[in-house]
Amino acid sequence: MQKPISTIVVLGAGSAGLLAALTLKKKLPAMVTVRILRSPRIGIIGVGEGTTPNFPSFLFDYLKLDQERFFREVHPVWKRGIHFIWGPRGEFPYAFGNHYSVSDTGFSRSNGFYSWEKPYESGFIGRLMQQRKVFLPDENNQPRIDDSYGFHLENPRLVAWLEGEAKRAGVTITDAEITDAARDGEHITHLTLEDGGTVQADFYVDASGFRSELLRGILEEPFESFADSLICDRAVVGGWERQEGDPIQPFTTAETMPAGWSWRIDHRHHVNRGYVYSSAFTSDEEAERVFRERNPLVKQTRVVPFISGHYRRSWVGNVCAVGNSAGFVEPMEATALMVLCMELRALAASLLEGRLEVRQTLADLYNRFSASVWEEIRSFLMIHYKFNTLMDTPFWKHCHELPLSPDAARMVTFYQENGPSSFAHDMLLPRASQFGIEGWWALLVGQRVPWKNQPVSPQERQRWAERQLRLERAVQMSLTTEQALAIVDDPAYWQAAATSQVA
Ligand SMILES: Cc1cc2nc3c(=O)[nH]c(=O)nc-3n(C[C@H](O)[C@H](O)[C@H](O)COP(=O)(O)OP(=O)(O)OC[C@H]3O[C@@H](n4cnc5c(N)ncnc54)[C@H](O)[C@@H]3O)c2cc1C
Repeated sequence: MQKPISTIVVLGAGSAGLLAALTLKKKLPAMVTVRILRSPRIGIIGVGEGTTPNFPSFLFDYLKLDQERFFREVHPVWKRGIHFIWGPRGEFPYAFGNHYSVSDTGFSRSNGFYSWEKPYESGFIGRLMQQRKVFLPDENNQPRIDDSYGFHLENPRLVAWLEGEAKRAGVTITDAEITDAARDGEHITHLTLEDGGTVQADFYVDASGFRSELLRGILEEPFESFADSLICDRAVVGGWERQEGDPIQPFTTAETMPAGWSWRIDHRHHVNRGYVYSSAFTSDEEAERVFRERNPLVKQTRVVPFISGHYRRSWVGNVCAVGNSAGFVEPMEATALMVLCMELRALAASLLEGRLEVRQTLADLYNRFSASVWEEIRSFLMIHYKFNTLMDTPFWKHCHELPLSPDAARMVTFYQENGPSSFAHDMLLPRASQFGIEGWWALLVGQRVPWKNQPVSPQERQRWAERQLRLERAVQMSLTTEQALAIVDDPAYWQAAATSQVA
């Protein structure tokens, strides 16, 4: 009989390693020790600043971390969606929450059918984004924080806070560089440190970033590259201090660029920008020149190379890789932290289900789940490229000609025949889909991909216009990010929240 896991070593202390250690320490029985090894010389990648809504829910509902401390130490800003400067309309929103696939009372079809001309008007969060507002106030003029938001986070602050939380939970952190490891088939038996010492554990989490020291380096797991469908492979990154009077935008911006696209992420005191591009279509020098031309306030820049794809299996023997060491795609939809949360929930649940034994059937299931998550992301990102006709450069011409994956093609065909319908959600998408039908319809309606004509009656059109007036009134009274932050930064806000929870 197999010995249950009682010692876990996590290799790496970027956001992936720290969150993995925290999750396993909090979710597995207390007798399991969790130790992090990290190399200060190698350091962390230091990018990764936008999240999806599953991230706050992972931190506060699943891990039950302290929200007040998070706000005080990390200084997050809320993200209500992505503002795309993209496609034949020039711009459109991907608003979090229900935007297209729900039907408001009194309408015969889902909201997407009435939003063809004005996609921002489909739902309340789109309207908020359009007017740079973030939350409706409640009766006490406090932000009514629903669950349809992600965060903009400064990576070093996030990592410092996670380190404190991990230590508080009982994780030990050791500065040590791994230079080698010994394996017996698909099991790692020990790690070798730079000083010649060894470290042994029952289970290893490889969170060593793009180096993927254990999964790729020692276990030699093959890599499934997405380079034939997602052709960007580098980013030039920079930013500047926020200027007086420049409002904090409650969304990430994704903007079409000659050989790729560019993000803008707003933090409280500075703005972070990056140009993601394909090295087959532009050079580092030209990308930097265009990036600076568009963003004259940018100070220092750096180029970050990356490879899109994932390892065929991320859990092999007694090693599970998470974060960038398991897979990565360009940050268009802020998927890295999103996937990490999904991976960690599944890993903790699998180890608990297996009574802390490494069971092949559970590892197989985990790997199938993880591969299907990556496959959906690849398909979803492909439609961003296929239908964006805003620029006609060689890069974009090439993207338009790339064939869609079978999953993406199936979604597009369904939409072309049936419109942005809420029907068949579970039948069309994988159960674990994080974008859901909302994400797909946001990108297809947003990029003006037509569906079979299904006219809207004049009566419904009139009712839709009346609905817009109601939404407009609600947006007018809503709070800006600056107003909402001023409330949440006041300790009285958290005291009142704690009191209302006790009551
Ligand atoms: C251009 C770009 C933009 C991105 N934007 C986003 C975004 O908006 N949203 C998002 O969710 N994600 C984004 N990401 C992904 C982001 O990198 C990850 O979300 C996140 O930072 C996780 O990194 P990590 O912990 O896997 O790796 P890293 O931060 O690289 O950490 C690796 C750790 O392993 C340690 N290590 C490595 N080798 C050894 C060794 N031999 N011995 C000991 N220790 C070792 C290192 O010291 C470090 O502690 C972006 C990525 C790129 C490239």
